[in-house]
Amino acid sequence: MDRLGKNMVQGERELLRDVMKQYHSKMSPSLAKLAKESEVVMKQFAPSHLEAEPFGTTKPFEEGKNNHGIYGLERIYEDRAVITPYFECAAYCRYCFKKSRTLAGEAKRMSDSDIKRAVEFIRHDSRIKTALITGGDPFLDIELLQKVLDQVSEIDHIRNIRVGTRNILFSPEMVTDELADLLASYQQIDYQNPRNSRNISVGLSINHIDELTPAVVGAYQKLIQRGVAVRGQTVLLKGINDSVTAIRELMEAFLCTGIVPYYFLHCMPVVGAKHFRTTVQKGIDIIRELSARSGSYAPHYVYVTPAGKHRLGPDAKLTYQMLDGKRYIRAVTPYRAEDFLAFSDSNSLPELHETDENGYIVSHYLDGEED
Ligand code: SF4
Repeated sequence: MDRLGKNMVQGERELLRDVMKQYHSKMSPSLAKLAKESEVVMKQFAPSHLEAEPFGTTKPFEEGKNNHGIYGLERIYEDRAVITPYFECAAYCRYCFKKSRTLAGEAKRMSDSDIKRAVEFIRHDSRIKTALITGGDPFLDIELLQKVLDQVSEIDHIRNIRVGTRNILFSPEMVTDELADLLASYQQIDYQNPRNSRNISVGLSINHIDELTPAVVGAYQKLIQRGVAVRGQTVLLKGINDSVTAIRELMEAFLCTGIVPYYFLHCMPVVGAKHFRTTVQKGIDIIRELSARSGSYAPHYVYVTPAGKHRLGPDAKLTYQMLDGKRYIRAVTPYRAEDFLAFSDSNSLPELHETDENGYIVSHYLDGEED
């Protein structure tokens, strides 16, 4: 039972028991130690009775990671392809669908033949300039990650390789000098023709300044010192970081330790995550406050639907629509329906998406709530 459970009443304890039957929970040893010291870290990883409230999609994006019949490949944009070599994580963030019993615990991975087919797919479309290697967590199987990196880096038109991870928080000790050297070895700068260069960067998910322990900072310094850019990705979470102060402190710490603030993501409507979701407007209010400061403080604020990321500036105006008694944000996306269908190999747009008169996708995204 978690530290948060100390003051629970009987009804809440029963709900928590149900939650633990429904969802997995997992923490790495160093994360469990940190959670004992930080309430905001504990809240992100300890199961809560609040997860019992029926809510959220049971159809995780994992289902989309099977593009053109190639397991572990995903493409919805013209210029990027996603490869997921390893689908498991070393800890389950409670705001993520990974905790679901249908997904958690099984270390699903791409086979050698899946990787070969994914690489061939990318090789045959020179519009794809960026390969995003994500998970689960690709750092949990370095041998597999290296296989992917070796093959992707041989594709002539790949200019950016991005590796997404939260494992630097879960197990900072795994970032050894050897691993940092390995990642840096895929960087290739063409001084005569810079457009032919290839960059490798790491997208690191960190949600609160408490997560920047000496070990975590030391781990990503190994990468930065070798020229591997580290970009910060932060999920807006109610009760964790939903204030100007929390986000400003985190962005300041990112900048002065060499992390580039990149994405600030609204919490997705996944199962058992309702209590973590603020309104989308809350994030706009936070970045509006940050926009009075240097532009380097400003990550891209986005919410994500199955059709892609929607960026919101500090002056964004939201349009709402009520559907079945719930409040959705209706928006014309920058994505053309015909492109989405072709890139994603789909016959139809995702649920709650339609096409406008100019051929662009219109999305409806379930808003969160303030208390
Ligand atoms: S590390 Fe990422 S993929 Fe894994 S549970 Fe957390 S948010 Fe989900």
